[in-house]
Amino acid sequence: MDLRKISEEMKSSFNGGKTLCMNWRRNQLEAILKLVVENEEEILDALHTDLGKSQTEAYRDEVALVINAARFALKNLHKWMAPIGVSLPLIAFYGSASLIAEPLGVVLIFTTWNFPFNLALEPLVGAIAAGNAVVLKPSEMAAATSDLLAYLIPKYLDNSMIRVVQGGPEECAKLLELKWDKIFFTGSARIGRIVMTAAAKHLTPVTLELGGKCPTIVDRMHSNDDLLVTAKRIVFGKWMLCNGQACVSPDYILVQEEIAAALVDSLKKTIKKFYGEDPSKSSDLSRIVNKNHFLRLTKYLQDPSIANTIVYGGRHDEKRLYMQPTILLNPPLTSDIMNEEIFGPLLPVITMKRIEDSIEFINSRPKPLAIYLFTNRENLRKRLLNETSSGSLVFNDTGVQFALDGLPFGGVGESGLGKYHGKYSFDTFSHQKAVLYRSLFPEIFFRYPPWNAFKLNMLKTSLAFDYWGAVLVFLGLKKMCSEVNREQKME
Ligand code: NAD
Repeated sequence: MDLRKISEEMKSSFNGGKTLCMNWRRNQLEAILKLVVENEEEILDALHTDLGKSQTEAYRDEVALVINAARFALKNLHKWMAPIGVSLPLIAFYGSASLIAEPLGVVLIFTTWNFPFNLALEPLVGAIAAGNAVVLKPSEMAAATSDLLAYLIPKYLDNSMIRVVQGGPEECAKLLELKWDKIFFTGSARIGRIVMTAAAKHLTPVTLELGGKCPTIVDRMHSNDDLLVTAKRIVFGKWMLCNGQACVSPDYILVQEEIAAALVDSLKKTIKKFYGEDPSKSSDLSRIVNKNHFLRLTKYLQDPSIANTIVYGGRHDEKRLYMQPTILLNPPLTSDIMNEEIFGPLLPVITMKRIEDSIEFINSRPKPLAIYLFTNRENLRKRLLNETSSGSLVFNDTGVQFALDGLPFGGVGESGLGKYHGKYSFDTFSHQKAVLYRSLFPEIFFRYPPWNAFKLNMLKTSLAFDYWGAVLVFLGLKKMCSEVNREQKME
C-alpha cells in the first residue's frame, strides 16, 4: 500500500471542499449508524474473537457507545457548526466578531486493541462531525476487528475522505513520516512519545489518549451496604471492563486499614457472584488479548516479592489466555506491579493508616487518567478535588465517566494531552478561526499618529467603555448632532 499516495489523494479530495457542507457530515454520521446497526452481529463476533468479550459487554462498551456518539453528533451538529458571537472592545467599534469552527484537514487516528471498535469509531465520529478527511489505523492486535473495519468502512463511508490503513509498527512508522493536519493517538505513553516526536517535525498538533495507573481510594463506610456497593462498583471497573484491560480500570486500591479485610472479603464474594466459583468457566469474563500480554501479566505473579501477598485468584491458563481475577494485599511498593500500569485482572490493595495520606501517595506519582474515591465524607471529597490532579475524578463509582457525552475524556501530564467525547470531540478536530468584521465607518482618529496628549487621553478614556457602552455613546452623539443640525436649519 502506497501510503504517501493515499495521503496525497486525500489531501486533494479534502481541498475539493466537500466536507465543509453539513449534509456531507450528516450523511457520513448516518452511514456510521447504519454500519453499526446492520453489522451488529459481525462486530460482536469480532470482539469475541479478539478478546473473548461477552455479547452484553461488547454491546454496552463498544456498539452502544458508538451509536450514542453518532446520534449525539447528529443531534447537535447544527449548533456546533454555528458561528459563536464574541463581544468587542471600543477599539473595534463599529464591527462584529465571531468564532468559526473549520476542519483541520486530513487527520490520522491510531487506536488500541482493548476497545478496538469504540476507540476507532468514536474519534472518527468527532473527526467527521468537524469536517475532516480521516486515515484510520486500527490496532493490529485486535486483528478480527481491524479486518472488519477495513471491510465495512469502504462499504459504508465516503472512500475519498475516509480510509483504513491496517498494519503494525512498520506501517505506523511510515504513516508518521508523512505530514498530517492532526494526529489523534490512543495508546501507551511509550508510543505516545514516539508519535509526538514524529509530529513535532511537521508541527502537527496531537491529541494523546494515554493510560497509567488509576488509583482507587476506599474510606471507612457508614454501613456494610455501602461497602458492598463499593465492592460491586470496583469489580465493575476492574473485571467487567475487558478483564482489567481498560485505561480507566482501577489499577490499585488504597484502603483505610481497619476495613481492608472487609473490603477484600466483599470483593471476593462479588467476583464469585458475578463469575462463579471457577471464573475460567464463565463466558462473561474477557480473555487476555495475546500471548505477549499474557506473559507480561504472569511475570508480575512470578515476582517472588509478591508471591505471598496473593489473597485471591492467581490461576491462569496460557492456552486459553485466561487469567483469574486476582487480589494482592500489600505487595511491596517497590515491586513492578506497583510501578507499571497493570492493564489486566490483577488488583493490588494497599492499606493506609490514615486514608488522607492517599493524597500524598498519589501526588508523588505521575498524574493519573482517573482517580476514584469511595467515601461518605464531604471534606475528603473536597480535599481530593482541591489537592490532586487527574484526567477525571469520580466519587463512588469507577469507569462510567467514559460513557458520558457531556464530560470531556482525556488525561493530564503523563496520562495524556487533549480531550474528546461529545462536543469536545468536535472541538478537538476543529480550528476555531477568529473572524472580525470592521465597518469602514466611523474612523477612530486617535488610533493614528501624530500622537499628542489629547489622543493619549482619548485612548485611556476609551478603555473605560466596553463595546456596548461605546455604541450607546455613539448613538447619543449621533442623536445630539442631528438635533443640533435640525435646530440650526430651523434658525
Ligand atoms: P500501544 O501504544 O502499544 O499501541 C497503540 C497504537 O500505536 C496501535 O495502533 C499500534 O499499532 C501503534 N503503534 C505501535 N508501535 C508503534 C510505533 N513504533 N510507532 C507508532 N505507532 C505504533 O498501546 P496498546 O497496547 O494498544 O494499548 C494499551 C495502552 O493504551 C495502555 O497504556 C492504555 O492505558 C492505553 N489506552 C488509553 C486509552 C484512553 O482512552 N486514554 C484507551 C485505551 C487504552
